[in-house]
Amino acid sequence: MPALLRQLSGLGGCTHPIRLDGHRTEYDVNTRTGEIGSVLHHLDSSSLPAGHLLVRCNNRRTTRCAACAEVYRRDTFHLITSGLRGGKGVPERVAAHPRVFATFTAPSFGPVHNRPTGSAGSVRRCRCGALHDQDDPALGTPLDPDTYDYEAAVLWNAHAGPLWRRFSIYLRREVAKRAGLTQRALREHARVSFAKVAEYQKRGAVHFHAVIRIDGPEGGDTPPPAWATAELLTDAIRAAATAARVDGPVVDGRAHAFAFGRQLDVRTIRSADFDGGQELTERAVAAYIAKYATKGAETATGALDRPLRFLAELAQLDISDHARRLIRTAWTLGARKDLEHLRLRAWAHMLGFRGHFSTKSRRYSTTLGALRDARAEWRRAQALEAAETDPDTTLVLAHWVYAGTGLTDAEAWLAETLEPAPGTEGEPTHG
Ligand SMILES: [Zn+2]
Ligand SMILES: [Zn+2]
Repeated sequence: MPALLRQLSGLGGCTHPIRLDGHRTEYDVNTRTGEIGSVLHHLDSSSLPAGHLLVRCNNRRTTRCAACAEVYRRDTFHLITSGLRGGKGVPERVAAHPRVFATFTAPSFGPVHNRPTGSAGSVRRCRCGALHDQDDPALGTPLDPDTYDYEAAVLWNAHAGPLWRRFSIYLRREVAKRAGLTQRALREHARVSFAKVAEYQKRGAVHFHAVIRIDGPEGGDTPPPAWATAELLTDAIRAAATAARVDGPVVDGRAHAFAFGRQLDVRTIRSADFDGGQELTERAVAAYIAKYATKGAETATGALDRPLRFLAELAQLDISDHARRLIRTAWTLGARKDLEHLRLRAWAHMLGFRGHFSTKSRRYSTTLGALRDARAEWRRAQALEAAETDPDTTLVLAHWVYAGTGLTDAEAWLAETLEPAPGTEGEPTHG
């Protein structure tokens, strides 16, 4: 029992670990002759307390694995933060580069119940005549579902990724134009980098939040040119977002085309962490992006956190009529041969969106992979220190095969006894 507890505690709270069958052997190697010597350490999964090697699931969704999603959220927080104030291999000078936080929305697909706010922050009546409460489930749902453009709503989500790519190309063009440079010449003066996250609005449309930064020609290591200001960047973003357009499919004689909605919010990011709450700080931006990185469609619209296998499953689910209709629309469109490339059935639970939740340009900051590697390296170093083996004189041979997922009932019960509730510590989740 104590040995099983020790193995389970190594999972850091993951509730759906991957189970592996196999073995790992460490041999002593003579560095002079290259000869393989005695066995230093041998591990066989059958001799482990759980009968398998257990590895964290690393799912980013809070609804799937709270502990692994929490690790993902913290990594995203560090990734965004290092691009804003340096650290993790990014120079601190990036804090002085022009940086903005921008939110790109989807266009309207029909009027929805909302909570309009007046100039003094007062809440006004919805078009339906009601004064909706902040957590009213009606918010974001169509005033008239029969005239709401579900087809365009789902197809917009399916084209949101390509639309962002188009925007990022236009943005570099608009920045170059304002600096009086050609696009080719721009690369010798400045680089535009970004980190973005997708979030579902209550109505089920994907929108993007992005940190966008201008650096010098070599990225964060080099100072941006004097013309590069947050104002120029903001202006270029507005122009590029307005111009970005992606042609979609023709469905039953109707030609779809996609563009961002008119609501575009661009704000300059300040360095100070305390400023009376008026300005957007680095910390608030990083916390905001990290929070959305661990959510899918399920948190905003009450949709699903996993793919649907049969449409019949939809009837059994406790989801809103609006979410049901979005999923059904994706499923129906997914049957069309000419829309095959959008894989709408596989992504129906995501309301058609099949892009990555968080993406960044190469020069923005470090990567999630680098953070994971650093963590694994640290654990390896700790283990080696404990075992007193030298990596330079050790040969490791290992072979593992998949043996299942999850914990047995007894293991789950034991694991619960050692877990503090996830998300009760760490970085701020406000913002
Ligand atoms: Zn997990
Ligand atoms: Zn209403």
